[in-house]
Amino acid sequence: MTRGDYYEILGVQRDASNGEIKKRYRQIALQYHPDRNPGDKEAEEKFKEAAEAYEVLRDPEKRSLYDRFGHDGLKGTGFTGFSGFEDIFSSFGSIFEDFFGLGGRTRSRTAPQSGADLRYDLKISFLEAAFGVEKKITVDKMHRCDSCHGSGARHGTKPETCPTCSGRGQVMHSQGFFSISTSCPHCHGEGTIVREPCSRCNGTGKIKKSKSQMVKIPAGVENGTRLRLAGEGEEGLRGGPPGDLYVVLFVEAHEFFERRGDDIACHLSISFAEAALGGEVEAPTLEGKTSVSIPRGTPTGKVFRLKGLGIPHLKGHGRGDEYVQVVVTVPTKLTKRQEELLQEFAEASGETSRQEKKKFWKSH
Ligand SMILES: [Zn+2]
Ligand SMILES: [Zn+2]
Repeated sequence: MTRGDYYEILGVQRDASNGEIKKRYRQIALQYHPDRNPGDKEAEEKFKEAAEAYEVLRDPEKRSLYDRFGHDGLKGTGFTGFSGFEDIFSSFGSIFEDFFGLGGRTRSRTAPQSGADLRYDLKISFLEAAFGVEKKITVDKMHRCDSCHGSGARHGTKPETCPTCSGRGQVMHSQGFFSISTSCPHCHGEGTIVREPCSRCNGTGKIKKSKSQMVKIPAGVENGTRLRLAGEGEEGLRGGPPGDLYVVLFVEAHEFFERRGDDIACHLSISFAEAALGGEVEAPTLEGKTSVSIPRGTPTGKVFRLKGLGIPHLKGHGRGDEYVQVVVTVPTKLTKRQEELLQEFAEASGETSRQEKKKFWKSH
């Protein structure tokens, strides 16, 4: 590794943008490219230094460490500079292609690759969300094919070395002064080709398998909550770690409860007599029923708070509250007796009776 200042090496200001850094690096790389300066040790050194400086400054994390702690800051990142041209070219494959206008991406065929994350949508009931539940889910995952061990070649055969690139996965192009390697078009960078595909996986090297597992859903989850099951995604390639499985919860609506955060709300019908006289009425709760005291003269729309009868908090202890809004119902069918009593009630309240109202409207 160089001890020189990366900004000085590239000839940029400390606050240079990524675009400037890339542009400047491109100029230096072109100027000191080994194909253009064969046998020139000084050019070689400059080319390597610039590559190292660029490798650090193009990465926001490494750049920030370098800005704060200098070269020492990079010690913990595993970054060790470049050992030689091979190293530089393999690590900058796509950048070089980009610089020299070749396009296409170089894929490393030996690097471990982490498995993809998976998503599973799970529908649960309102009460299951409130109190938690354990659910069995079955997820389809791609696994390495047992028959060909992931090679994609028919049982008893092996993938052959690609004749175009001789197994390197890369082909060299000459362009003016430079030779640049790009991903082999024949084997797509794999270095091998399969002549007879595996019949089990059709040559893909992977087969779909279903896996059932139990998922513990904690109390207090809500619609859209994402549960992460670490390592339960697709398996990694070449020793890479597996991906994660995200279970996305869809909570069904409740018959009469509505959720507002960890509080719940519902309507409760009470009769005119209950509203006027007051008394104990039964209100629904998540766990059954509870008795609510209605004071005398309760108007329709009044809200009663039942403390601690809401949804348990997902994080921490305690629960939300339940809000019960009373709705005073008006009877639609009256018996003769009920009607008489209401007439009497109206008169006692000083209201004009219906017959008298009729007379009033007729005479006007
Ligand atoms: Zn196979
Ligand atoms: Zn090839």
